Amino acid sequence: MSFTADRLLLFGATGDLAQRMLLPSLCALHADKLVAENLEIVGTARQPLDDAAFRNFAREALEKFMPAERRGGMATFLNRLHYQSLDANDMAGYEALAAKVGTPEQGLAIFLSTAPNLFEPTIAGLSRGGLTGEKVRIGLEKPLGTSLETSCEINDAVAGAFPEARIFRIDHYLGKETVQNLLALRFANILFEPLWNAAHIDHVQITIAETVGLESRVGYYDGAGALRDMVQNHMLQLLALVAMEPPAIFNATAIRDEKVKVLRALRLIDPDETVTGQYRKGAINGQPVPGYDDELGQDSDTETFVAIKAHLDNWRWKGVPFYLRTGKRLPERKTEIVIQFRPVPHSIFASRGALTVPNRLVIGIQPEENITLSLMAKVPGLDRAGIRLREVPLDIAMADAFAGPMKRIAYERLLLDLIEGDQTLFVRRDEVEAQWDWIDGIRASWAEHGVRPKNYTAGTWGPSAAIALTERDGVHWHE
Ligand code: NAP
Repeated sequence: MSFTADRLLLFGATGDLAQRMLLPSLCALHADKLVAENLEIVGTARQPLDDAAFRNFAREALEKFMPAERRGGMATFLNRLHYQSLDANDMAGYEALAAKVGTPEQGLAIFLSTAPNLFEPTIAGLSRGGLTGEKVRIGLEKPLGTSLETSCEINDAVAGAFPEARIFRIDHYLGKETVQNLLALRFANILFEPLWNAAHIDHVQITIAETVGLESRVGYYDGAGALRDMVQNHMLQLLALVAMEPPAIFNATAIRDEKVKVLRALRLIDPDETVTGQYRKGAINGQPVPGYDDELGQDSDTETFVAIKAHLDNWRWKGVPFYLRTGKRLPERKTEIVIQFRPVPHSIFASRGALTVPNRLVIGIQPEENITLSLMAKVPGLDRAGIRLREVPLDIAMADAFAGPMKRIAYERLLLDLIEGDQTLFVRRDEVEAQWDWIDGIRASWAEHGVRPKNYTAGTWGPSAAIALTERDGVHWHE
């Protein structure tokens, strides 16, 4: 049922994500008058706070994590906030929570920004408190489980209280402007689509590189690793958007139908098509950093780097490798997609001594949002010693091309879509399960073959085997 929520219930309201992303995003939406005047926000967590103390807490978070120039509406935003203390495992507490939420006029949006082991008791408590009716929708933060089995358990528990049309699974990469721009690039231009297939594309690379190490995520990360933390969700969503067929219409069903077909076409891969690594001490930007085991305080087999040569078994992509890599403590922070086109079928310039380099499209997602198409051009001159060609970039820096519209963080878009009920940028159950199915297959083959992460020095691009993974196909990682 379509409704715009006028009440938002935020679980995990005192957590890191709430402080850094959710409260600042909501404050920005308020300042720009993008949410209704009557929207009330109820935060909940175990910490005993009253409304005034939570508003104080939120003010401190906004002052810390929001640029001063975006804090214009802060004082009035804080008036929207309320708080109810609750241990999500304590069923008796949900009646008081429901009383605090009250009866919204239009509807309620709930956002679970808590660890996934709290999802099942939370759903049970919401049912008990009468907070699952037709005018209630729910947003779930990742990670949704650690395997297909555990993901199904969570999905089943949520489905027991909410139909799929009212479940909003977050992958915050889908809230990023450049990720959405992939759809515009592919389907609002005639140029690329005729070439977007195995006949014209040699391979695709997707890199999500972080310079940070373990930070404060010890408990979660060591049990998860790079494959489950990054590939299972963000990386596969990027891959699906790059590889999907054109949907007939821009809506949640059509787009998600096409993405899930791609995810189901992922081939089960052999262990020799993956490389795992774990960083050892090294340097990032000239600063010494400790190794993973030093940060953790014990030995571990968790991979902090993974590179994969993936394949899609369908007509469009037959024989086109998708090289994926992600890791911590890599030399730079960047997320990018590289589409490497094939060489021209016949170079008329070869007889004049000129080399042609195949075209390449690089889509930068972070830190800079830009699109670069490398084209061949003739070096100016009289060509007495032969024709010379050179690659020249056709560059679109999104920040310059769209200097007017304000740059927003992904959660602004996603929270607004949750409040208004647009599921297009949220992940459907069948997508999550197709993602887990493929990831479980990789993990099972690692276990079967006793794969353990290779060491790499912090500040390098992972173990040398990751370089060999592409080099043996004559491909270089784009750096
Ligand atoms: P966090 O800093 O550990 O915060 C957890 C929140 O849950 C706190 O508000 C905590 O408050 C509350 N909480 C813990 N146990 C509770 C319980 N039994 N009953 C009710 N509330 C409880 O975690 P986070 O970093 O904000 O992350 C939240 C979720 O988002 C996690 O699943 C995480 O994996 C995911 N996520 C986080 C990020 C990020 O950048 N931080 C990014 C992507 C996804 P009390 O201790 O006062 O109860």
